[in-house]
Amino acid sequence: MTDDKVSFGFEDVSREEKSQRVKGVFASVASRYDLMNDLMSAGVHRVWKANMIAKLSPQPGETLIDVAGGTGDIARAFMARAKEAGKRRGSEEKPTLAIVSDINEKMLVAGIRSSDEGMPRVAADAAKLPFPDRCADALTISFGIRNVVEIDQALREFRRVLKPGGRFACLEFSHMTVGLLQELYDQYSFKAIPAIGEFVTGDRASYKYLVESIRRFPKQDDFADRIRAAGFNHVSYVNYSGGIAALHTGWAV
Ligand code: SAM
Repeated sequence: MTDDKVSFGFEDVSREEKSQRVKGVFASVASRYDLMNDLMSAGVHRVWKANMIAKLSPQPGETLIDVAGGTGDIARAFMARAKEAGKRRGSEEKPTLAIVSDINEKMLVAGIRSSDEGMPRVAADAAKLPFPDRCADALTISFGIRNVVEIDQALREFRRVLKPGGRFACLEFSHMTVGLLQELYDQYSFKAIPAIGEFVTGDRASYKYLVESIRRFPKQDDFADRIRAAGFNHVSYVNYSGGIAALHTGWAV
């Protein structure tokens, strides 16, 4: 891959082309996105996400920015956990803010629920966030970073908008650590997922991209180094389901 090209699944394309094609993928699947997540992972993505939220330990009165937040499930879970924490401590009156930020308005709109409170939606590129410096207590990005064209610039933006001591958590598909299961996982991801995607959304190509983009994403240790290079401290990661996904965390200083 030359310097001016980036990966779009297994293809190397210009930055502009990746940006346009990623927008096309999520515009195409937006209305069926939540259903597909449950089908593809047999609901396991909910467990991974619940672990991430538990690790963040949301508190009432905090501000979260959920980047590439799609239909808003992370923001919703953060709000709910902050409320529970407030009830336990008797401080639930402090308003919590969980901003759902995503480049794709169709994904943001598909996620709007009448019951959502304190969850503004903001259309923005992860690499150019329209938020002031040091405004957030926590920043999450879940299954979003591998779709971003300028990953390192986005990581620097995440650090910029976090307050000193702010928590960063990135949940992303990653690389398996259990060699014996790799063959099975490859069969499932390259054959079954595009087929399920075609059946549910009528769009096989988008799910082929999603699977290929996972293989092109950096390995756990390399991605941790990039988070450190963006200025985060205490960077570490845990693998979920044998490395099918990984949660990287760090602290802003
Ligand atoms: N966070 C949600 C979740 O965990 O289910 C949605 C993840 S979905 C796989 C990826 C999201 O990233 C899409 O909503 C897409 O629009 C968004 N996205 C892609 N490129 C982006 C960018 N450069 N900046 C912000 N969001 C982006």
